[in-house]
Amino acid sequence: MGLKVCKFGGSSLADASQIAKVRTLVDADPQRRFVVVSAPGKRSREDHKITDLLYLCHEHARQELPFDEVFGRIAQRYLEIVQQLKLSLNLKPALDEVKVGIARVAQDQGTADFAASRGEYLNGLIVAELLGVPFVDPAEIIFFDARGRLDEARTYDTAGQRLKKLKKAVIPGFYGSDAQGRIKTFSRGGSDVTGSIIARAAGADLYENWTDVSGLLMTDPRIVSEPQPIDVVTYRELRELAYMGASVLHDEAIFPVRSAKPRAIPVRILNTNRPDDPGTMIVSEDEPIRHRSTITGIAGRKDFTIISIEKTLMNAEVGYARRLLSVLEKNSISFEHLPSGIDTMSVVIADKQLEGKLDGLLEDIQRECEPDSLEVAANMALIATVGRGMARTPGMASRLFGALASAGVNVRMIDQGSSELNIIVGVEADDFEKAVSAIYHAFV
Ligand code: ASP
Repeated sequence: MGLKVCKFGGSSLADASQIAKVRTLVDADPQRRFVVVSAPGKRSREDHKITDLLYLCHEHARQELPFDEVFGRIAQRYLEIVQQLKLSLNLKPALDEVKVGIARVAQDQGTADFAASRGEYLNGLIVAELLGVPFVDPAEIIFFDARGRLDEARTYDTAGQRLKKLKKAVIPGFYGSDAQGRIKTFSRGGSDVTGSIIARAAGADLYENWTDVSGLLMTDPRIVSEPQPIDVVTYRELRELAYMGASVLHDEAIFPVRSAKPRAIPVRILNTNRPDDPGTMIVSEDEPIRHRSTITGIAGRKDFTIISIEKTLMNAEVGYARRLLSVLEKNSISFEHLPSGIDTMSVVIADKQLEGKLDGLLEDIQRECEPDSLEVAANMALIATVGRGMARTPGMASRLFGALASAGVNVRMIDQGSSELNIIVGVEADDFEKAVSAIYHAFV
């Protein structure tokens, strides 16, 4: 029988009725043995995530301000959930301990991690009680090293041993223990990472990531109405799409499952509110994929500047690129892309990186690189058309650029990553939506 690890996100656990759906889903499939939970998320647009309220408690405590009011709201939410689910669990002692703990950690000048982690901890106690399965505290099985990175060997060994002995368990997401045994969290949204680690430690066949959308869509539904869902995407394609803004999974969640031995563990993104939707499967590059269309998805971002440099015989000048990149480094600017021609080189930089630095940067480039011309195109948007089938399909570029030309979009930059997994075009920000829509309709 296969083994599934399921992680439920904050919206899937926001209140008692959502948590009841989780029980139905877990009970429906005996393969769903290990359940990783987030803290309760927002119940409505105006609502607050429990995690945000916990950060607020820590901040109050740190400034020696009372935090009874905020903590009272947190406690109230949990107690309401326990009551509405008709559980006999007495959560009061755990809530009291958490409150005292937050005050103590803040007094000892500790980080906000302890406070933040308690949202998952308390929710884990509730879901374990509801499912009638053991609660496993990740502080005992997930470890960070002295430099704050996941201590993989210790984590997989300890978690693997522990989970092997259990038929089922609930494990709170988002945190583990640091090298000194203190609570440490991943970055925000980190329960996805916990799910991935647990999937690997347990030797799962599938990591189900339950959220409030039915997987990834081929493009932004605010630009193209009702875009097709993505049925299957590889880890690398997902990385390309996520970098361009399509996000369903924490960036770091891919790595544990991707490097699992003897084989990578696939991830399925599923919707707790529409559990029969097929969702999106995220698989390793080795899996054969038959897409409905030649491309997998289109994603893009605005707010880039492209600096184009031209210099006669640039190709013959040793060290030219190094000089240009040293100027960027000296100005503490990281760049996104570096498309080049024989005598030209363009640097694509996110506007955030350039704040207050553009004039100084241009002066330095003039001095160090002595270009024949130096042009700055502000207000640019980048659009990535991603698909692992693209490299082997003739005519892809002509279709893409033909569609942009017909839509009257002027392409200012082209970059095809060396992976041949994507073609990135730079267009004026005003043309962004038009361009995305044109590319989508050219392929779908
Ligand atoms: N509760 C944490 C957050 O809001 C972690 C998570 O939900 O994944 O960031």
